[in-house]
Parts: sequence; structure tokens; C-alpha cells
Amino acid sequence: MSSRTPLIAGNWKMHKTGTQAVEAAGKLKRLVDAARDVEIMIAPTYTALYQVAQTLKGSAIAVGAQDLFYEKQGAFTGKISSEMLVDAGCSHVIIGHSERRQFFGETDETVNRKIQAALSADLIPVFCIGESEAQREAGDTFSVLDKQVRVGLKDFVSEALTRIVIAYEPVWAIGTGKTATREQAQEAHQFIRSLLETLFGKPFADTVRILYGGSVKPDNVRALMEMPDVDGALVGGASLDPETFSKLVFYN
Ligand code: PGA
Repeated sequence: MSSRTPLIAGNWKMHKTGTQAVEAAGKLKRLVDAARDVEIMIAPTYTALYQVAQTLKGSAIAVGAQDLFYEKQGAFTGKISSEMLVDAGCSHVIIGHSERRQFFGETDETVNRKIQAALSADLIPVFCIGESEAQREAGDTFSVLDKQVRVGLKDFVSEALTRIVIAYEPVWAIGTGKTATREQAQEAHQFIRSLLETLFGKPFADTVRILYGGSVKPDNVRALMEMPDVDGALVGGASLDPETFSKLVFYN
């Protein structure tokens, strides 16, 4: 535990129509109304963003998107810009999620451009990194994280990055029910924080929040959150049901 305000973030992925998303957001709003000293964010799919943001107006729950495109506008069929996300009511955007890296050709270089686009529009990027099972078994976890961070954050200065959030999500733990042990999570988070210290200095590294993601559930959230470098959670499956997600918000 640290002085960093924890962030509990839900990634709804490709689930829920607009109507279903509004219903879930409305329920969540009531359930977490009494939450203090914790930030909450949910990331519905694009088509639900505006309605969900309207539903959550005036509440403590922030709305995020699951991706963006780095160009400002133009002939890019199917793409959504940072300005469009802000207009729809977003304050956050998830960038570099492993599913985007795996299925949609996201690279460390495109991630870098997307972080830049998010920051220029005053969106808070939730920058995802993490190793695959094969990479972990080959002993490459730290070198993978090192490259993802160095390239993803290339050419930034610490002043520009103050609002960024990092999410460590080991790919083998996402949607598999296989959570990293809290010791594995802490080890990776500590590595990332010390790398950030090398790259951007101690004040930045001490304040940046590093979330853990990968099969976070009500029965394991507390143990993870007790680790000194775990500052929150990025949650997929367990964020879909408002009751379950609210238990994560009240992990304490
Ligand atoms: P999960 O997903 O909680 O379903 O494992 C985490 C994520 O993809 O952010």
C-alpha cells in the first residue's frame, strides 16, 4: 500500500449493447456511491460510451475507451480519434491491451503514437504491458516488459506523462482464471517502477500508478492490493457484473 490513490478499472471488452451498458452503469453508480479514496473507471465499447457517460455524469465513476486511433481525423474508415472520445464523455483510454496486440496488429510503435494522441487530448492513457506464457517460461519476462516500456514511452518527458497509468497484465493470466501470485505481480511491478525511475526520474516513478490485470476477482483482489507496488486493478470478466465489480471497488 502506498500514498498513490488506487484505481479500480473495468474493461468491458466487446460485451453489452448500449442499453445493457447503461443499465449496468446505473447499477454500479448506486453500488459504489459510498466509495472513498479510490478512483473507479469503466471502459464500455465505443457505441455505448456516450450513453454511459451521460448515465454516470456527476458520479465518481470515470469513463474510458478501449482504444483510439492516433490520427486526428481523415480517411481512416472505422477509426475513432482522441477528440471523438473526449466528445463522447471519456476521460481515460486503454492503450496497448494484449488482445489488441494479439488480434489487431498493435505494436509498441503504434502504442507510442496512441499514448501521444491521448495525452494531447488530455485523456488519461492506461498503458498495458505484459508477457506471454511462452515468454515467461523462456525467462524473458523482464526483457519483454523493458522493451514494451522503452518503446511505448519513447520520446516522452516525465512532465508530459504525469497522468499516465500503467497496467501490468501477464497475457497468460487474462481471462484464464490463472491469476499471477501476488509475489509475481509485485516482482513485475517493482521492475517496471525501477525502470520508470531510470527513464523518467524518482518523483515520476514514485507517483505513477501501476495496476495489475489478469483474472482479478473479489477473492484475490485484496491480497494483490496489499503489495507495495500494486496500485489498482484492470479487470475484465469480473467487471461485467456490477455487484461483483463493486466488491472489487470495496476491496478493503
Ligand atoms: P480478465 O481480463 O480480468 O478477464 O482476466 C483482464 C483484462 O483483459 O484487462
